Amino acid sequence: MAVKEPGKTKYVFVTGGVLSGLGKGIAAASLGAILKARGYSVNIQKCDPYLNTDAGTLNPAEHGEVFVTADGAETDLDLGHYERFLDEELDQTSSLMNGRVYAQIISDERAGKYLGKTVQIIPHVTNTIQDHIIAAGKGHDIHIVEIGGTVGDYESLAFLDAIRQFYRRVGADNVLCAHVVYLPYLEASKELKTKPAQNTVRDLRAAGVQPDIIFARAERPVSDHILNKIGLFCDLDPAAIVALPTARSVYEVPLTLEESGIADYVCRSLGLEVRTGDLAAWHKLNQAIFADVKPKLKVGIVAKYMDHEDTYMSVTEAVKAASWAAGVKPEISWVNAEQIEQDGPDALLEGLDSIIVPGGFGSRGVEGKIAAAAWARQHKVPYLGLCLGMQVAVIAVAREVLKDQTANTTEIDAEAKHPVIALMDTQRKVVNKGGTMRLGNYPCKLQPGSKAAAAYGKELIDERHRHRYEFNNEYRDILAKGGLQIVGTSPDDKLVEVIELADHPFFVASQFHPEFTSRPHRPQPLFASFVAAAVKQPARAK
Ligand code: GLN
Repeated sequence: MAVKEPGKTKYVFVTGGVLSGLGKGIAAASLGAILKARGYSVNIQKCDPYLNTDAGTLNPAEHGEVFVTADGAETDLDLGHYERFLDEELDQTSSLMNGRVYAQIISDERAGKYLGKTVQIIPHVTNTIQDHIIAAGKGHDIHIVEIGGTVGDYESLAFLDAIRQFYRRVGADNVLCAHVVYLPYLEASKELKTKPAQNTVRDLRAAGVQPDIIFARAERPVSDHILNKIGLFCDLDPAAIVALPTARSVYEVPLTLEESGIADYVCRSLGLEVRTGDLAAWHKLNQAIFADVKPKLKVGIVAKYMDHEDTYMSVTEAVKAASWAAGVKPEISWVNAEQIEQDGPDALLEGLDSIIVPGGFGSRGVEGKIAAAAWARQHKVPYLGLCLGMQVAVIAVAREVLKDQTANTTEIDAEAKHPVIALMDTQRKVVNKGGTMRLGNYPCKLQPGSKAAAAYGKELIDERHRHRYEFNNEYRDILAKGGLQIVGTSPDDKLVEVIELADHPFFVASQFHPEFTSRPHRPQPLFASFVAAAVKQPARAK
């Protein structure tokens, strides 16, 4: 017998079909944003069918940036979209990977929780998935759950079956499923084709789920005729089919969704009061993004992964947010760190208004990043260092002050004579790679009068971390001789969190990752100050 869960949370599942990379996460986040704009409390969760436990050990070149929540979860980059669109802090419960589901079931089995029973995908895996979804949605009016991957993937089947069962578990009038499909354009007949969409809906139905809403992604405008055709073949109300032609900016999507009326449809279908949404902040943001004549700002990001902008998603979004707020048009140049090693920094950095060295792991490109930090220091070009970006700046200063080009981080050279960045004591004995770094929010005390304190307008901050190595305190005094100022530390003064360089227009670098807390409507303070300094740069090429 179906047991209805207590509570009043409504659920919207978001699945994807035809192909991946359609912007399912943006669609889910945008739907969340316009529902939140109606005064509903909205939470959002990503379920990924990979067998990984979290995203911490995934290669960012393949899967995109590893996003970090305040409570230290290492997640899929979609959580970054969710936080930026919803302007909410998410937590561990917002990211569920299959590995976590299986780890729990296997440990329960060993503990004897299933004594005498055969442990099976249905019902044990599917129940565990549902339990995680219910737990994450608790206390919210609407809980949006994006299922990673594409319908038809072998790995997603248990998640789809969990949705099928979910309708019965919480009552069909409390759940919707929105399916994101793609309409390819056929040049020969000059039309968008609906057959792949029909097929993926059939696959979804075969898995026991009838979609309630279709988001139809296309690279051209979608006519009513096409929308009606999808409605007919997929058995849906035309009001439940939303055209999502490729947007100029992802931040346009909430406005497109708003115009489609889908939020009212969702509210009506879920028995929620239909309210007017306040999209003023989104209109304002879009005006800033698309405003016409603007000075350009050239921001160089010195990176290791050159073929995947997703890899540095939060960094680029933070740069954009700060630039829009400052009334300049961001022009991001991707500078290949390894190329700097070959051609020298002048060839690659000349002409940039500002330089960012983002986070990273491993040795590839690190020498190029150290050279970039040294170059920004010498040429007085505004510099923002993020995690590894702080560590390479420390190394650059150390090499000069110590007159020793071998000064290094022990991540690269375990035997370095001057290990200016080294493992924290608590990390020395760590063997497992997954989930063992210094992760999530830690407090940092900023020095009054520093650029960082001025940026934040306060002296005690919390920021998100994801690193193993630290500034080696034995070098604090020595490096001060090179103008390196320690302007942020852990409140007990043991760990260096922020450095600045004296006699420089803006050279600020943090051991934490400020990019994760930037919002499109509210730039992160360090990024805002960095952009402000870059705009003022006298040398900058107009
Ligand atoms: N690899 C460095 C460390 O582990 C920096 C990490 C990062 O940039 N996120 O400390």
